[in-house]
Amino acid sequence: MKLTLEKYLSWINEFSQKVIDKKDYLSDLDSKIGDGDHGNNLARGVTAVQQMLTAKQPQDLTAALKLTAMALISKVGGAAGPLYGTAFLEMAKTSSQTTELAELLTAATAGLQKRGQAKAGDKTMVDVWLPVTAALKNADLTSTVIEKAVASTKPLVAKRGRASYLGERSIGHLDPGAVSSGYLFEALLVAEDE
Ligand code: ADP
Ligand code: MG
Ligand code: MG
Repeated sequence: MKLTLEKYLSWINEFSQKVIDKKDYLSDLDSKIGDGDHGNNLARGVTAVQQMLTAKQPQDLTAALKLTAMALISKVGGAAGPLYGTAFLEMAKTSSQTTELAELLTAATAGLQKRGQAKAGDKTMVDVWLPVTAALKNADLTSTVIEKAVASTKPLVAKRGRASYLGERSIGHLDPGAVSSGYLFEALLVAEDE
């Protein structure tokens, strides 16, 4: 699938709404293995994204992705802000060469991993971004792929971020950043369908 400005705006709107709806749940997940702020952090970020997109009315995909990245970096804070910000910034950079979604997400995931140094199985958002990117390359991203990726974080021991301080005690809990990333890609499926 090729990403257009219009599709991107419905994607990010859908994601923003979902994050705002699930803010408390995301923070509850984070209170189990972190500091309990992930939902609040991200809700603040997507609210800023919506304000920025409304105020600036970007005229192309690259500009819209860049604005999103800036809003997330400046408003989310914590670990997730720079990570999500980097992902959107990498998509923005790549979008001047290609708008093929699989390519954009390949760049985003590489940026995430470079920034956070997380590998597959470290119980982070990367455990969702990697399989989703792979599925998009094969043109078979489905809700099942996303749900499985999110659920895969539950039995893992956290190796990165605050949850890693818990060591084995992080076992048995979903990673909050994986859950919010799951919302991002569910939102993509909704936007794709429109
Ligand atoms: P903080 O941990 O600073 O309070 P958040 O609670 O907003 O930040 O975000 C936590 C999420 O960030 C985790 O659930 C995890 O998915 C993600 N995360 C943390 N560190 C890393 C990392 N090094 N690489 C990838 N993702 C990470
Ligand atoms: Mg937190
Ligand atoms: Mg925090």
